[in-house]
Formats: sequence, structure tokens, C-alpha cells
Amino acid sequence: MSAVSVAIAITWLLGLLMLPLLGSLLRSRVPGVREWLMADVALIVSMPLLLLRGHIPDLVSIIFANLVLSLAGVSLYAGFARFLQRAPRWPLLIACVAITLPPLLYWRYVVDSIPMRVVTAMAFTAAICLAVAVVVARGRQPGRSRYPYVTTMVVAIIFAACQSARGLYFLGLNHVANALTFNTFINVVLLCVGAAMMPVLLMCGMMMVHDALLCDARDAVNRDFLTGALSREGFAAVAQTMLAQADRNRSPLACLIVDLDHFKSINDTYGHTGGDQVLCEFVSLVRATLRAGDALGRVGGEEFVVLMPGVALGHAQSLAERLRHATMGHAVVTENGTCTYTLSGGLAIRLPGESLDQLMVRADRALYQAKVSGRNTLSIDA
Ligand code: GH3
Ligand code: MG
Ligand code: MG
Repeated sequence: MSAVSVAIAITWLLGLLMLPLLGSLLRSRVPGVREWLMADVALIVSMPLLLLRGHIPDLVSIIFANLVLSLAGVSLYAGFARFLQRAPRWPLLIACVAITLPPLLYWRYVVDSIPMRVVTAMAFTAAICLAVAVVVARGRQPGRSRYPYVTTMVVAIIFAACQSARGLYFLGLNHVANALTFNTFINVVLLCVGAAMMPVLLMCGMMMVHDALLCDARDAVNRDFLTGALSREGFAAVAQTMLAQADRNRSPLACLIVDLDHFKSINDTYGHTGGDQVLCEFVSLVRATLRAGDALGRVGGEEFVVLMPGVALGHAQSLAERLRHATMGHAVVTENGTCTYTLSGGLAIRLPGESLDQLMVRADRALYQAKVSGRNTLSIDA
């Protein structure tokens, strides 16, 4: 059995192994899994056809098998593109597959050259690997771990280099091919690397899916389901980081607790759904009004806390007033009419060495003052 046949058989087995693993990820509904599954099926179909060369018509074992293999390649790329929220342009991808047809036909039926067919296949797969590296490099989403992205990029670039090297080696053979040219040490090494290419890149895809699922699970714990603000747990974690940073830099940290006024009557007038809508739109308003580095947590039904790092009293007061005015001017259109609402706020600036709980107790005390002094106002715990 030749080295090429062994490599093809190994790729086929690895492809078969990947099938149930990818299948198990289908129900995760993470974009890209379907395309990767399609790539794996195409790989599994093409390998036996390549192995049967000489026993079945060349049109099937060479031309058709290589087209299916190219389809596996573009589908692999499409999986990464979809995963990274980019719509794969299928007509263009199919055109890329079609481009490989004329050289394959030429190097089989006009000039029968195995080396040049290998060159064609290597150029195509190297381009796919580079395209994967580029789409992954451009597509990392904020908050996602770098590990699977960097690993996939490095792996794709290594494969692109190996496929190019093998293509160049065969280009240098000048159409001459016999068993000896295939069994050189360097060619066998590059052949083995090439055999692992598709399964390893599919594993990289699965690694990305696992990372995305982990992020979603972490988000589910750390984010409030209704408004998308940080949950108590998520806020506590972010706040501890901010406190440590403030200690390190000896910088101020402002804590603002806000509570929407008369929310019970908002629910009574506009319904619970209307109330929910107010809460969601209020969170969007806070995000648009405050600075990007501020942390927003939902600590009660209609009670929120904002931590503003690097902000001293004067600045914190003007930021809080800006939010209060923005809230007053914000109308929420609900099914039961247009709702306007106000907030009361308590502000405290962190004292040296103060814990999060102590800081929040003081801000809460100020909030109570704002409520008793008539609502729609801001109070400061000096
Ligand atoms: P105050 O001005 O003193 O803060 O009065 P309030 O009515 O806002 O405060 P109170 O604590 O008496 O009532 C809060 C209400 O918020 C009661 C509760 O039904 C409502 N609420 C809590 N969580 C949610 C939620 O997720 N959605 C909706 N729609 N309402 C909520
Ligand atoms: Mg309230
Ligand atoms: Mg409340």
C-alpha cells in the first residue's frame, strides 16, 4: 500500500470520527456547525473515491472526488465565516470550486500528470487555509477568549505553508512521477500533515463552539436575563476588579444607586409588560448616557447600581444629573400608552480601603434621602 493510500485512509477515518462529534453540536444552534458538518460529510464521501482510483472510472475517482473535496474546503471556510457572523457568499465559493475543474480536466485528459493535479489541489487547499486564517483574525468578538482564535489562525497558517511547500515540490517535478518521487521523506511528511488538515481545522471549529458555549453559560450567570445589565453576581465580580484597580492607581471610584420612582404604579398603569419595557429601555439609556468603562448592575427589581472608575465627586455628580435629566426626557411607547418616568439616585465616592458593601450601604443611604425628599432627585453621601 502506498503512502498516499495510507494518508487517504487516515483522513477518511478521522473524518468519520469527527462526524458524531460535530453532530452532537448541531443542537447547540451555534452558527457554522451545519457548514462544518457538511464539510465533514463531503470529506468522508471523497476519500473512498480517491482510494478507488484505477478501479472505477477516472471521471469519478479523480474529477468528481476532487470537486467534492474542494466543496469540503469551501464549506469548512463557510463554517468559520458563519461562526464569526459573516454571511458566506455561496455563489462565490461555488465559483471557486468550479475554477478547479478546468485544470483537473486538463491535467488528466489533455496531459495526464499526477504532479500537476497535486499542484492544483495544493494551491486550492492553501488558499482555503489562508482564507480561514484571515476570517478568524478579523472576526474575534469582544469578550471571547483569544486561545481558540489564535490556535486556529496559527494552525491554518502552518497548513497553508505545508500545502504550498508540497505544491512547489510537485511543481518542480516537471510532470515526472513515479513511486520514488512520492516516497521521499519530505513528501511523506507533508502528505501526513495534509491528511490531518481538514480534521484538525474541524477540531479548531469545535474548539470555537465550546468557547462560545462557555461564554454563553458565563453570560447567563453574570447577566440579568431581562435587561442585559450585569446580575448581582456579575456586578460583584466586575466591581472587585474595579476596586483593586482603584487601590493600585490610587484613583477615585464613584458609586451611584438609582431606583425608578413609583414603579408599582407604572406596572399598574401600563401593565407588567409595559414595566418590563421601561426597565429595558432605561438600561439602554444608561448605557448611552454613561461612559463605556462604567459598570451597570441590576441589584433589585427597579434598582440599579453604577460604578464609575476614575471619577471624583464633581464629575460623578454631573454624570448622575445627566442621567436623571435623560430619564425625565425619555418616553417609552408601550401597548397601553406612552410612559414617562423619573429616578431617584444616591451617590457615594469610595473612601480609602472601603469595601464594595460599605460603599453601597452609603450610596443606598443617600438614595433613601432622595426618596424621602420627594423623589426625582439626587442625594450625596458625603
Ligand atoms: P418608590 O418610588 O418608592 O421606589 O416606589 P416603587 O413603586 O418604585 O417601589 P416599590 O418597591 O414599592 O415597588 C417596586 C415595584 O417594581 C414592585 C414590583 O412589582 C416591580 N418590579 C420588580 N421587578 C420587576 C420586573 O422585573 N418587571 C416589572 N414590570 N416590574 C417589576
Ligand atoms: Mg422604585
Ligand atoms: Mg426599589
